[in-house]
Order: sequence, then structure tokens, then C-alpha cells
Amino acid sequence: MSLQQTLILLKPDAVQRRLCGKILGRLEDRGLKIVALKMLKVTKELAAQHYAEHVKKPFYPQLEEFITSGPVVSLIVEGPGAVQVVRDMMGKTNCRESAPGTIRGDYGLSRQVNLIHGSDSPESAQKEIAIYFRPEEILSYDSTLAEWVCAGD
Ligand code: GDP
Ligand code: MG
Repeated sequence: MSLQQTLILLKPDAVQRRLCGKILGRLEDRGLKIVALKMLKVTKELAAQHYAEHVKKPFYPQLEEFITSGPVVSLIVEGPGAVQVVRDMMGKTNCRESAPGTIRGDYGLSRQVNLIHGSDSPESAQKEIAIYFRPEEILSYDSTLAEWVCAGD
């Protein structure tokens, strides 16, 4: 499986509920490598760029209100098949339908206020990484764990 990067946001509810450490810990425990990380407040303009596919939907005003309501943690993680690995760790969009063991299934009860965003395809990942990070903010470094975490198929 080829190495991929994916864009993750720990949404305002994760920050407010002090769950960032736990969620970052899950991603690190899985073996994903953090290659960029920062905190920011999503503006309305940024929200519209990020959620371009949803801007016309009836729930967008609520989504905009939520995602701009407080700081988020934005990060890029890298690993084999990282895009789908993170999507699987997140669970379904609606926390109530997410299996226990997933981030949304363990920590949430809402469809909107669902703790985490993860890119849904390698193409979305490239687009979203460019929205949130400048190239010089993304670090390239070796990890001695790589052969234990990522080796083989
Ligand atoms: P995701 O890829 O699993 O995050 O889900 P989507 O791309 O479908 O939606 C983006 C985000 O919009 C979700 O993570 C939720 O925060 C929110 N959202 C999705 N569907 C609904 C909805 O029906 N109502 C509301 N209020 N928010 C929604
Ligand atoms: Mg999505």
C-alpha cells in the first residue's frame, strides 16, 4: 500500500471537550505519523472552501456556525493507505450510527457535532492539505518506527 497523507481537523467540540489528546493518541497509537499540526479558527471563507460540496445544502448554515464557533486543531498524518485508515477510525458521519471503537462512536451522539474531519479520498486530501497548510509547514522526517509499523503489505 502506498504512503498517503490525509487532512484531519479536530473540530471545535473536540477542543472544547478537551478530547484532542485522546484523539491524537489514537492516531499515533495506530502508527500514523504526524507531519504537520496547528491550531486555528476556521473563518466563513475557509469553511466555504473546505465544505464546497455542502455549501448549497440545507444544513450548511448550521455546519458553518458550528465549524467557525471555536478553535480547531488541523493536522496532516501520513501512513500506508492513511486516507481510508483514518476514515475507518472516525466511524460514520452520524455519531449515533458509528460503531463503538471508532472515534465518533466512542465520544459522540450527534450527526453534526462529530469531533473529527478526515479527507474522504486521496484527491480530497490533496485539495484540503493545500487549503490548510503551506508547503513549508509540512515536515519530512524519518521515523525509526517505520519498519515496525509499516513494513510489508
Ligand atoms: P463526513 O465526511 O463524515 O464528515 O460527512 P459529510 O462530508 O457528509 O458532512 C460534513 C460535515 O457536515 C459532517 O461531518 C457533519 O459535521 C455535518 N453534517 C453532515 N450531514 C449533516 C446533516 O444532515 N445535518 C447537519 N446539521 N450537519 C451535517
Ligand atoms: Mg465529508
